Amino acid sequence: MDMNDSVKRASEMATELRHELHLHPELPWCEVETTKKVAAKLAELGVPVIKMGFKGTQCGLIAEIKGAKPGPVLMVRADIDALPVTENEDLPYRSQCDGVMHACGHDAHTAVLTGVAQVLKEHQDEICGSVRLLFQPAEEAGPGSGAPAVVADGALEGVDAIIGEHVQSMQEAGTIGWKKGPFMASADTWDIVIHGKGGHGSRPHSSVNPMLCAAALVHALTAIVPQETNALYPTVVGIGAIKAGEARNVIPDTCTMCGTVRCSNMDERAAMPGRFERIVKGTAAAWNCTADLNYQMVYPVTVNDDDLTQWVLDVTKAEGLGDRLVEREFAMGSEDFSYYGEKVPAAYINLGMGTDAPHHSPGFHVDDAVIELGVKLMSALALDYGKSHPKA
Ligand SMILES: [Zn+2]
Ligand SMILES: [Zn+2]
Repeated sequence: MDMNDSVKRASEMATELRHELHLHPELPWCEVETTKKVAAKLAELGVPVIKMGFKGTQCGLIAEIKGAKPGPVLMVRADIDALPVTENEDLPYRSQCDGVMHACGHDAHTAVLTGVAQVLKEHQDEICGSVRLLFQPAEEAGPGSGAPAVVADGALEGVDAIIGEHVQSMQEAGTIGWKKGPFMASADTWDIVIHGKGGHGSRPHSSVNPMLCAAALVHALTAIVPQETNALYPTVVGIGAIKAGEARNVIPDTCTMCGTVRCSNMDERAAMPGRFERIVKGTAAAWNCTADLNYQMVYPVTVNDDDLTQWVLDVTKAEGLGDRLVEREFAMGSEDFSYYGEKVPAAYINLGMGTDAPHHSPGFHVDDAVIELGVKLMSALALDYGKSHPKA
């Protein structure tokens, strides 16, 4: 079977599948119908599913295509979930679920990986080792997202490396974005409850106003960068909400604050909860308050393995796509693909669409041309991995 032919037909199938998925988006950990649709398509293709659902749900699956010759196991990952966004694009396949939309392009990832399954099935005898196709649920969930559940279920056992792609609306159409080393930031969350002592607004001396402590914390926490972090590593301490009080003449009992922390370096990330603990407790004490801190580590830094990324570049060039390569800058966004990179060599790339509307916005849309590029490149990588990484 001619490879270009396989890619072309698989891309046509995948484009149709994407439109179907776009019509019926499902939120994180609700991707039951999406999973069924993928499973049905894989059954049609004769590709066996080796694991159905993660964390005791029916969301997500892993399929496996075994080659004729021995070799390593490569995992190729696609995320499958949608977002709580109301679509404002007037497409023939506009979302039919009110308030839910594939606003990050995960419908394209799901479709591309299904296309890759079709190509690999037609070229199964060329595979050395095996290729596992991971359709991962709940990438967008934040705490409790899909990737750590996949890892906890033991799905990476026996896997030698993992690759994944994400469409990118802000990157020039048809380009392939890559970066060695740290690629995307960690994303952790913090919540603080400051306890003061409520009272009459005219008698502050007989109360403890927790908002004064909050005001001091705004300065103290945002001074962590760059006073305590190494200025060579981009870091963000973000404050998203401060809530307290109802009336002009009442001092409230409590004040709550929450925000996000993004790091580009794992040591900086590991030091953050301790910094928060010290500053929050110390500032609360200085203002005669007490404070509860809930600091949650959510997504690690996404780190691309240098050697695996070099291999991605080599295969891309060998496929005649070298002129599409663009080196990306480190981004402060995050990805739960990062969990896999903590376990096995990982490489994550971006496929440019030039569609401009930002990810997660109601006007976000996928350029269907990206499907064929994704199917072609990810299939080429999947077919090459076993050949260039022999393993008895
Ligand atoms: Zn997203
Ligand atoms: Zn995404």
